[in-house]
Amino acid sequence: MSILKIRPYQLMCIVCKLGEGATADMGNLRLNEIFHAIRGNPLLPVRLRCNVNSLFRFQNPGPAEDTPGGELFNVKRDLEILMRLGMMPGDTWPATDLVRRLYEHVNTTHGICDCDGPSSPEWAGCPRAESGFYEKGLALGFDTFIRRRTFDEMERTKRDSARTVYEASTLRIRPHHLMCMTCFYGRMGTLAPIAPDNLYEPIDVIHQNPQIPITLVNGCCMVCPPCPEYDPATNLCAGFCSMGLRDERKDLVVLQRMGMKYGDTLPAREMFRRLFAAFETTVLVCSNGDGIVRGPGWTTCDGPEGNAAYVKGRAAKLGISGL
Ligand code: SF4
Ligand code: SF4
Ligand code: SF4
Repeated sequence: MSILKIRPYQLMCIVCKLGEGATADMGNLRLNEIFHAIRGNPLLPVRLRCNVNSLFRFQNPGPAEDTPGGELFNVKRDLEILMRLGMMPGDTWPATDLVRRLYEHVNTTHGICDCDGPSSPEWAGCPRAESGFYEKGLALGFDTFIRRRTFDEMERTKRDSARTVYEASTLRIRPHHLMCMTCFYGRMGTLAPIAPDNLYEPIDVIHQNPQIPITLVNGCCMVCPPCPEYDPATNLCAGFCSMGLRDERKDLVVLQRMGMKYGDTLPAREMFRRLFAAFETTVLVCSNGDGIVRGPGWTTCDGPEGNAAYVKGRAAKLGISGL
């Protein structure tokens, strides 16, 4: 897969143009190329490169895409952005995660695009720094940069995929979603379908037929199609900040402790019997084992004590008769 290699400031300049009112033409060939590549494929890997005189110079792109404002200003501007993103030169992320992180952590041009201090050619800065366009671009919302699923499409998918769950002779579920179903059951006072996923439907099917086979699948499963984070084109989870990767680890912890592998199939009653024997809480799976968040991609779904809803759902045995 090809990687889009860009300078950090170029992402900010696109937001600045969006804030000025641009929708397709960012007023610069390179910015247009970047914007349309990301708009066309929000999952595209993007590498942030900048010019530094340190151990990270292995990735230096050279000054060809510097803007006016001073050579040192160009170096500092990129580093100011990386610092706020919590990233290093050469880091490569899916575009959707990177742009969302920009919107979350870089909320002004101040200290990045302007230059306080005596004026000099090295520190001229960008003449648009005080325009407010970047801040306006942020206020327009992430969706103006990254293409997202439409409400109508998600609503249609919810209807179709819920029907598929009810018509299936075998439920296809990713391992840690067995635990999410338990949290869902423990959290809900009254069980009812919800729009953003299909956690309810497999529980309802299992209540009607506790012997229905469940096959453990690798990656997105029957629960995912209506989710705003689901990418129908690739069947991947595009949840913020590498949710798909965190979930992959969760799936593997569940499989390991249950002594199972992807593709294994068991009747629902037996599957949940094994799950509940293997996990009294979600700590090992969803709290990284100790509740410590070691990086932006390794957040937890619950506190260090695990999710109380799972404990409740497990105590109620997910409402499965004969378990
Ligand atoms: S102020 Fe200038 S350098 Fe900063 S984001 Fe806007 S156009 Fe880009
Ligand atoms: S705590 Fe874990 S099992 Fe529960 S909803 Fe969150 S991710 Fe799912
Ligand atoms: S967040 Fe990801 S794994 Fe969870 S339901 Fe949505 S697409 Fe599936």
